[in-house]
Amino acid sequence: MAIGKVYLVGAGPGDPELMTIKARRLLMEADVVLFDRLLDPKALEGVKAELIDVGKNAGRHKLNQEGINQLLIKKAMEGNIVVRLKGGDPYLFGRGGEEAIACREKGIPFEVVPGVTSAIAAPELAGIPVTHRGLASSLTVVTGHEEPGKDAPLDWRAIAGLDGTLVVLMGVSRLEQNIAALIEAGKSPQTPAAMVEKGGWPEQRTICGTLADIAEKARSLQIESPAILVVGDVVRLAPTLGHKKIAILRPEGQQAESARQAEFFGFQAIMAPAIAILEKPLPEDLQRRLNDAEYVVFTSANGVKTALKDQTIHRALREKRIVAIGPKTKLALAGYGLKSEVPLEYSSAGLERMLKGQCQRILFLRSAQGSQYLSDGLKAAGLQVDDIPLYDVVNSGDVRLDELIKRARSVDIFAFTSSSTARNLLERARALGLERELREALKGATVAAIGKPTCEELARLGIRVDSVPEKFTFEAMLQALAQRELEQSK
Ligand code: SAH
Repeated sequence: MAIGKVYLVGAGPGDPELMTIKARRLLMEADVVLFDRLLDPKALEGVKAELIDVGKNAGRHKLNQEGINQLLIKKAMEGNIVVRLKGGDPYLFGRGGEEAIACREKGIPFEVVPGVTSAIAAPELAGIPVTHRGLASSLTVVTGHEEPGKDAPLDWRAIAGLDGTLVVLMGVSRLEQNIAALIEAGKSPQTPAAMVEKGGWPEQRTICGTLADIAEKARSLQIESPAILVVGDVVRLAPTLGHKKIAILRPEGQQAESARQAEFFGFQAIMAPAIAILEKPLPEDLQRRLNDAEYVVFTSANGVKTALKDQTIHRALREKRIVAIGPKTKLALAGYGLKSEVPLEYSSAGLERMLKGQCQRILFLRSAQGSQYLSDGLKAAGLQVDDIPLYDVVNSGDVRLDELIKRARSVDIFAFTSSSTARNLLERARALGLERELREALKGATVAAIGKPTCEELARLGIRVDSVPEKFTFEAMLQALAQRELEQSK
């Protein structure tokens, strides 16, 4: 049988979109893929090859380097196209060279495919350019975790003497010792320093300080591997160039679009649905109640989608005057060929101003947990208000929400788009035994509420609100947040 081939492929720092096109193509063509670190599962999406995890597991090596070399050779000898996927770039502290030599020695054809290295990408994604005119004109990359007994130990004195940027990979376990070595060798304790944890992953975190305090900060915030230490004046650019992380708590159906919008406004989106939508059966007297109403009010695009699945509602609506609380809801209705009016202000007061004197009977088609706030004002204004609950808003039970809660301190902005997102986030944290930690994180972060009912719910829950948009849309919310960031960075 013909011998196969080994490709030593760099996977980039973790975000599957930062993988090269060639890496992606080879993954699709491979017969066998060997990988050895926590990859975003999306990186292996659609890959048909046999997947072998040769990585460390719970601190235990599943296979040692010699074992990996042998497995590569064996699989290639059997005629397979073998992709050895490695974090970052294969030849930077990745032992890719050793694997290449092992192949060469056995006459196995191999090729190396460069990858985006975390040494540059992780600082970069945290807003730290590794070189910058006037701040740093050289970059030194070292390992912070040398093998004991190695013959050429790091010359910390020489490293401390350099003026440029220093990046220390594998820097977590020996952080204190390495920093002490640098200071001992003459580096000023006031030199700016940062730790970038999981650069390019959804849970990316950056902490900035100086050589004097970065280790303590890293320990108290429980920075874990993979993380890198960056030392040098370029660290001072992080607050200006870094992107703030915003938690998107909306239901699954709105996550992807919301994340794209958030990125457009310069944020890094963390998708973590706090709520899910559970449709309810429609009431038996639906037809009569629709007939009675002069105006039908929708308060969300979700409500429109749920209601318009029903033919009775669809037919009845063609003859009704319809109110959409905001532009997104109007757009959803237009998608079903229905015209609607939008109040000047997307709120209870706006609704009231619009409908008072115009009609007597209003019907809300909305969530069962819809805020009383909207209808109470109308009732007080003497209107008859009927309310048909279309769906329940329930806890999403989504693992991404649990993950978000566990690393809530890495979140810069919490964007609450409804009172239920706030309630459910707190309830879930309580269930995980992390309510106190979440509240701490909320205190340190920016909290945004989409509108008045959400604001009131947050106040009731004891959470301070920093930002409310003038128009109650998600887009306006992002815009207000971006504006706020701009003002604060001045
Ligand atoms: N070949 C890899 C480095 C392998 S050494 C590369 O080019 O990126 C492993 C070390 O890389 C980790 O201990 C950590 O210091 C760093 N590292 C890898 N991925 C990282 C990431 N996403 N964010 C921060 N550091 C990372």
